[in-house]
Amino acid sequence: SKMLLEVTDLRKHYPVRAGVLRRQVGTVHSVDGVSFSLGAGETLGLVGESGCGKSTVARSVLRLVEPTSGQIRLDGEDITHLSKTALRPHRRSMQIVFQDPFASLNPRMTAGDIVGEPIAVHGLATGQALEARVAQLFEQVGLRPDQMRNFPHQFSGGQRQRICIARALALEPRLIVCDEPVSALDVSIQAQVINLLIDLQKQHGFSYLFIAHDLAVVAHISHRVAVMYLGRIVEIAGKDELFRNPRHPYTQALLASVPIANPLAKKLAPLVDGDVPSPVNPPRGCAFHTRCRFAMERCRTERPVLKGNEHQVACLLNEGTGRGQ
Ligand code: SF4
Ligand code: MG
Repeated sequence: SKMLLEVTDLRKHYPVRAGVLRRQVGTVHSVDGVSFSLGAGETLGLVGESGCGKSTVARSVLRLVEPTSGQIRLDGEDITHLSKTALRPHRRSMQIVFQDPFASLNPRMTAGDIVGEPIAVHGLATGQALEARVAQLFEQVGLRPDQMRNFPHQFSGGQRQRICIARALALEPRLIVCDEPVSALDVSIQAQVINLLIDLQKQHGFSYLFIAHDLAVVAHISHRVAVMYLGRIVEIAGKDELFRNPRHPYTQALLASVPIANPLAKKLAPLVDGDVPSPVNPPRGCAFHTRCRFAMERCRTERPVLKGNEHQVACLLNEGTGRGQ
């Protein structure tokens, strides 16, 4: 297979307990049967409202969270249940950039030590060679090598995220999971960081799993986009196709709230009316039926599955009407 990453029917369920006896009163279906693949040098945008399970997907891929079931393959090898030791060589190839660049940087370490630490831990360089490598990484992310001596608080939010990106690059990964990497940044800075990520991908050819809560942020960077709702992917397609021809009512509602002329501008409208139902014992049938303006009677009981080839959608409207196939 030419795919770098293949995720098949991934599930993460948590028991919900209550009372003195801690009896199980429900199950959180945080991720409920997610499948997708990611090619080398490709970016998949994974989009959904908070609580839809996208971060749990990301953490499962990195094996920071143990999935309940399903399979994760990296370069054709099943890594789902590898022991810590067996996983170690793969840890290098998968890195993450978190949402909050301040929380993920040790305030007592210099920026140079933060970026150099993974290289030292893996025994890849020491002394002057390590320092030269860190300086090179600083330049790659648009920081000056003399800033290596500074501490995280001496940098702006955007610069701190550049430090996190340099740290992720340090081990020459093949996959970088970006978990809302620009959500905590000023809008004016977001585009700079996204453009940096795009440039770095062009130079190094790694893949991104890029997580965001709205479509505007992934519009520029993604080759394909998957839209998640309550633990499931409801639509997945090439970026241009998804933006031109969204088929799932949830994707349509998300897109309606994206200002097309300036995708990173402040949103004008709320995403979708109504609250996301709880992932504890989620609705039967189509999980979106409580908010969908096209909901039919059968949507309450029949659960749509992803159908299609390049452009896949999970909606009963697309079944049997000829439109979806
Ligand atoms: Fe709406 Fe029904 Fe389609 Fe779900 S299956 S998105 S409720 S039309
Ligand atoms: Mg999250």
